[in-house]
Amino acid sequence: MTGRSHMLIGAATAIAACAGHWLVFSPATIFAAIFGSLLPDLDTERSMLGCRVRWLSRRFAAAFGHRTVTHSFFVPLVGALMVWHFEGLAALRGFWGAIWLGYASHIAADLPTGGCWALYPLSNRRLAFWPYARTGGIQEAVLLMISLGLLMALAFVWTGQVQHVHLPRNIASMA
Ligand SMILES: [Zn+2]
Repeated sequence: MTGRSHMLIGAATAIAACAGHWLVFSPATIFAAIFGSLLPDLDTERSMLGCRVRWLSRRFAAAFGHRTVTHSFFVPLVGALMVWHFEGLAALRGFWGAIWLGYASHIAADLPTGGCWALYPLSNRRLAFWPYARTGGIQEAVLLMISLGLLMALAFVWTGQVQHVHLPRNIASMA
């Protein structure tokens, strides 16, 4: 997926997580998820973040290749466990939790667009999901729209479970 698609999915995932009260909503939380959603592609200089730190992304690409060790669910899992251990559960529901959630959303989004080493170190085979969508192609745009729609529907359902929205009476009478 392109960096922009990853950012949108990262933001939508964080909004859904806030609606479900997994994360505490704040602009910093959403920003953290967007930033986290770009981190796995530090393994290629052709990515949004990688092109800004070429000295790092080139080394990473030479040592491991693209969509390998940085694209494993174990990275955000271990990262989240470390935040929990050192900073406590509250930190996991804020900025740091959002970073790792955004990171995980990137890996999930790469599965139908060519796949990645999602289960490394258990397996160093590229795990790919149907339907295969080419990065930057029309299929990716369709997949992006469906993913965003599902995440927003999830956020809507979770918000509805917590509180029912009532319009103030004066606004309702104007409508
Ligand atoms: Zn990627």
